[in-house]
Amino acid sequence: MSFDSFLTRTLNEKKSNELLRARATVTHVDGVNVAVAGHDGPLISFCSNDYLGLSQHPSLIEAAKKTLAEYGAGSGASHLVSGHSEHHKECEKQLADFTGRDAALLFSTGYMANMGVISALLDRNDAVFQDKLNHASLLDAAMLSRATLVRFRHGDVAHLDQLLTQSHAKKKLIAVDGVFSMDGDVAPLRELSKLAKKHNAWLMVDDAHGFGCMGEQGAGCVNSAGLTQDDVPVLMGTLGKAVGSFGAFVAGPQKLIDSLVQLARPYIYTTALPPSVAAATCASLKIIKNTQSLQRNLEKNIAYFKSHAARYNIALMVSDSAIQPVLIGDEKTVLALSHFLKEKGFWVVAIRPPTVPKGTSRLRITLSAAHTTEHIKMLLKHLGDALRKFERAM
Ligand SMILES: *Cc1c(COP(=O)(O)O)cnc(C)c1O
Repeated sequence: MSFDSFLTRTLNEKKSNELLRARATVTHVDGVNVAVAGHDGPLISFCSNDYLGLSQHPSLIEAAKKTLAEYGAGSGASHLVSGHSEHHKECEKQLADFTGRDAALLFSTGYMANMGVISALLDRNDAVFQDKLNHASLLDAAMLSRATLVRFRHGDVAHLDQLLTQSHAKKKLIAVDGVFSMDGDVAPLRELSKLAKKHNAWLMVDDAHGFGCMGEQGAGCVNSAGLTQDDVPVLMGTLGKAVGSFGAFVAGPQKLIDSLVQLARPYIYTTALPPSVAAATCASLKIIKNTQSLQRNLEKNIAYFKSHAARYNIALMVSDSAIQPVLIGDEKTVLALSHFLKEKGFWVVAIRPPTVPKGTSRLRITLSAAHTTEHIKMLLKHLGDALRKFERAM
């Protein structure tokens, strides 16, 4: 097949299945008020993962600016060469304290953190047990490690128990999203921890969506489940969502972190984050730890959204997190709904396969501490109207 015909076929297939993806170009951001190229008027965004509205907090911006002036725009090298600054070091210390773990290691992205940990811990003689709805980066990490990927039904601990019993792998790792990114529900962490102990397996939690939002002072969903480093020895969190900065970390026993520095290729062979980004993260962690008002605001907005959705006959999924999806089913309708809401001034993204399983396309609404109740009320009103309109059309 020729290069050009392969690409043409790929794009045409996506297009004819309503699966072609396009990027909106953001031209202005002021909290949840954003402007997008090609769209007249401002939009209220309900699709960012900036759950606490911290990305534009003056303290983060100030910390980044100051560090930019001192260190320049880039770190210049990987952590093991000359890219590891005092800001990275301070950030790791804060993350370890915050999560109640011995040590933490900064990664450039969450995708790379997952790739790094799993490929460092496992090889072809091992198996990684993953929830069916895990994030793509955990699934891809399994491939990089060459370990056998065993997937269990979503949240189904009995199924996992069975699969662990059948496995003869040398090392066994259970890896789950703490809060599932497209569904918003929380993994049964306490049961998973018991099961891990029973089968002598290791437990890893990806807390991309819980860190900063849930648990004591925002320490995450592992903390809110009352679990410690002994129960969940591998904790991964991201810094580009509720923390409002960029990057990710793995926290756990000192020996885990020491081993990752030696073994994790997506850590070793990449340029360190700019020091200004690490400084912004440090500033954000201080705010999250010391002020509970943002978490309280987010919780209040989630509660308001859930109770008022019922008034507008909007069926929600089982989620208490900031991720509140509305299941639609087919791709065409979900795109039309997203478009309808945009015309009304609300930005809600349509999520389609392969990000979610076939037939489960959905609107993924994400709430932020920065939304007002009026924003949420208006979104629900328009969404209620849209659902009635499209139900009649279907
Ligand atoms: C966003 C996300 C990641 C990836 O993190 P990045 O820092 O954006 O690369 C990993 N896991 C989950 C569950 C996520 O939602």
